[in-house]
Formats: sequence, structure tokens, C-alpha cells
Amino acid sequence: MDTLERDPHIAAVIFDLDGVITNTVYFHYLSWQQLADEERIPFDKRTHDLGMLGLNREDALCYLLGDRNISPIQQQRLLQRKNDYYLELINELNSEDLLPGIENLLIELYTSGVKIALGSSSKNAELVLQRLGIKHFFNFIADGHSVPNLKPAPDIFLYAAESVAIAPHRCLVVEDAPAGVAAGLAAGMWVLGVGPDDRLAQAHLVLATLAGIGWTDILAKIDYCGHAKISD
Ligand code: CA
Repeated sequence: MDTLERDPHIAAVIFDLDGVITNTVYFHYLSWQQLADEERIPFDKRTHDLGMLGLNREDALCYLLGDRNISPIQQQRLLQRKNDYYLELINELNSEDLLPGIENLLIELYTSGVKIALGSSSKNAELVLQRLGIKHFFNFIADGHSVPNLKPAPDIFLYAAESVAIAPHRCLVVEDAPAGVAAGLAAGMWVLGVGPDDRLAQAHLVLATLAGIGWTDILAKIDYCGHAKISD
């Protein structure tokens, strides 16, 4: 934290995808639900939201399966089916599916010369950004193919920072899941949590939404408060 206090100037923002830029969380849920129904595994939205948010697909499948033992080949087949359902759903995404405030923030960062990167566990991240019409804002996309250790390991954010040539302590991670907040902190970065304060309490700044908030507002809040956690 000493480094963070000494140099709060942020030169890169690394965004999570699901739940921050768009709500493919719901499409993930729908595709898991379809798989669970077909496999006759009891499952609902609450189970998904409590246990699977922020997990990569392999860990999410393990969570879904619980103590059911299946072979690695069967596991791959299930993951493939889930992904096929998901791809069908995200094919319909467009700019109207951007979460409130995100497009304005991207424009502001872009015109301010702040580097913009993605740090998402999703293996379809590039396709999603394309469908949403915002891929051109990104200097670098780190996704589920980029590093072996996914969140809460810091690797994906460190990889994104290195790829845009900005030191970790000058990066801000924007996350909606506890595992992602933990990953950003472990990377030695500033972390902005978007969502309920109780879920993201470890972040340096927590906002309920990005709607109506400008880059200068975010910077001011982080500058004034140092590394002390505040909420809004
Ligand atoms: Ca997320």
C-alpha cells in the first residue's frame, strides 16, 4: 500500500467485462440453467449468483456439479455445450446492452489519453466487445486465453498492465465481483468496485453504478481518500 499512497496518478484502467461493461452475467446464468435442466441438476438463479459469479468456466462447472463425479472428457463436453448456448445468446448483443455510464467513461478515458484494457476471465471477451461496438476503445484485451491462473490470482491484471506498459500501481481495476477485487488488490492496483458495498468492501472505492460519474469524479475520490476504503 505504500506505493499506492506515494503515487496515486492513474494512467491505465483495466475493466472486468461481465457485470461492469455489460450484463452477460444473465446470459451466463441462462446458459448454465439450460445445461443444468438438461442434466437434471437442481439449479436456480440464486445458486448461480451466490456461488458462481466471478468464477472461470471450469470452476463454475465444478460448483454446478457439486459431488457428482464425471470424467475430464464429459467435463469438456458439458463446457462446450454451455458455451454453445452462451454464444447463441451473446450473438444478439448490441450497444443497447452496455451498462449505464460505461460508454461515457470510455470516451472520457480515451480522449484523456488514459490507457484502456480489459481483464476478463471470459474466453469470448473480444466477441462481446465487438458486438457491443466498443472494441476500438481498448488498447489491450486480456481474456480467458491470456494467463493460466485466473482471478482471484493477480495474473490477468498484471498481464494487461504489462501489455499497455503501465506500472501496476498506476492502474485502476474496475470490478463487480469479490474474486476480481481480490485479484486487483493482489496485483498492487487501485480497485473500483461497482455494485453492492457489502460484496465489494475491500475495494478502494465502491460505487453502486457508473451512471452519471465522470473520470475526474473517480480520480478525485481516490486522490482525496488515499488507500482508505470509502463508499458512495
Ligand atoms: Ca464480473
